Amino acid sequence: TSPAPRSPAQRTQSMATELDDRCPICLDSWEEPSHLMPCLHRFCYRCILRWAQSKPECPLCKRRIASIVSITQCAGSPLIC
Ligand SMILES: [Zn+2]
Ligand SMILES: [Zn+2]
Repeated sequence: TSPAPRSPAQRTQSMATELDDRCPICLDSWEEPSHLMPCLHRFCYRCILRWAQSKPECPLCKRRIASIVSITQCAGSPLIC
């Protein structure tokens, strides 16, 4: 009796998917999704705004936040994106 081998790769992939459809700060669905410059990580606009007021760095990669860009705004102006 040998134990069935498990693949850890599948687990990593499902985590990445989860990150993509939830805001990493509130762990809820996106409310006005926005991305950070220059690292392009995504958060709710309200979540990252509040975070940046206490700590001006990305919660995921710790890079300094240069600016917060609302994706909703970008959709209306393709010239900017
Ligand atoms: Zn959020
Ligand atoms: Zn980042």
